[in-house]
Amino acid sequence: MKGFFQLVSSSEFIAFFEKFHPLQEEMILINDGLGRILAQDIPAPEPLPPFSRSTMDGYAVRARNTFGCSESEPALLKIAGEIAMGQSGQLLSLENGQTAAIWTGGELPQNSDAVVMVEYTNQLDSNTIEIFRPVAPGENVIRSGEDFEKGSVVLTKGQQLRPQDLGVLSGLGISQISVFKQPVVAIISTGDELVEPDKPLAPGKIRDINTTTIAALVKESGGVPVSLGIVSDEFDKMFDACIKALDIPADVVLLSGGSSVGRKDFTLKVLEKIGGTELLAHGVSIRPGKPTILAKKENVALFGLPGHVGSAIVVFYLFVRPLLRKLSGSGASLGMQRIQAITAEQIPSVIGREDFVRVAIEWGDYGTPNTAKPIYGKSGLLNPLIRADGLLIIDRDTEGLDQGEKAEVILFP
Ligand code: AMP
Ligand code: MG
Repeated sequence: MKGFFQLVSSSEFIAFFEKFHPLQEEMILINDGLGRILAQDIPAPEPLPPFSRSTMDGYAVRARNTFGCSESEPALLKIAGEIAMGQSGQLLSLENGQTAAIWTGGELPQNSDAVVMVEYTNQLDSNTIEIFRPVAPGENVIRSGEDFEKGSVVLTKGQQLRPQDLGVLSGLGISQISVFKQPVVAIISTGDELVEPDKPLAPGKIRDINTTTIAALVKESGGVPVSLGIVSDEFDKMFDACIKALDIPADVVLLSGGSSVGRKDFTLKVLEKIGGTELLAHGVSIRPGKPTILAKKENVALFGLPGHVGSAIVVFYLFVRPLLRKLSGSGASLGMQRIQAITAEQIPSVIGREDFVRVAIEWGDYGTPNTAKPIYGKSGLLNPLIRADGLLIIDRDTEGLDQGEKAEVILFP
């Protein structure tokens, strides 16, 4: 049996991503922006808020007209008017000793610098109020540009847009933004034994799990999955499926199954046969996930993923996800949380290979550490996957971990 090309470490594998560059930019409406990655810094085109606003219902004043007042010696101010919501406060100008009624969010009148809460006032007659508490200049006011000054950078290139980011953009009157295109990811499941999940099972057949799983993983990582269905273990069929994927055009092609060195494992040969491809890796010294292939054609990445769904998921999180993130402009990081945990039991491992052990996390209370319990099972079993919260890392130079040892765990998103 022919062996692997040459096993690379996970960090060597990730170093190949240097060869890929982020996709082009496109303009989109902010309503379509959730989760997208900004392709440019966004400076504020106008100050936010656009004018100085009251943060309370009350009376706009010149702060010094309230200095020294108290419950027993209230300041008396003349009501010059009321600033209705949506009306410009600047139409009114306060003279010394004057005040204006104002509501939360209303624009301060000219010559006022603070607002007294209505709770600390009493209206004596139709044009006079008493004030029982002094205010300092700026009190109960958000000044124009206090949130964002005109020209200041509000959001930065490479940032993933969250609901609050989109809200700020609409507050600034920005309705279109430039984002990186989302990688289009073609998914091909290979295997003579596979049938679609909605078809009856014939003897010897199993249902295709990888297409559904990988499509969801792609979405979770900000890509757009395009499923090309099941392809039998035939060189020509697999080759044609890859050509079809490149014609979409896909930015990434994922073939699962057939990536090892068995009699009908054609992925490597297929990827080599496609014109203009460069083979970067065949085999990674990790477990699970050793039979992983990476090839490149221009800026398109073609992956051969292990057929076992448990292994395919690990390889996806470790390698495909960071590449998708790089293509979508957010940098080739995992984009997953890492936590420290204590091993609940001894975990064996061999030197020379990185292990990614599925673990369930028992969260520690305040002051007590998290514990990670390994969930073992043959690589063909699905049950451990359902129960796991993440992957505990055992590096290649460590021969297993004792019970109670500290380890790092990558949490599933
Ligand atoms: P392979 O890498 O093609 O040797 O596949 C390894 C194992 O994963 C075999 O038991 C396959 O039946 C299984 N497998 C491969 N592809 C899929 C798939 N799409 N859905 C479920 N199981 C699969
Ligand atoms: Mg197969």
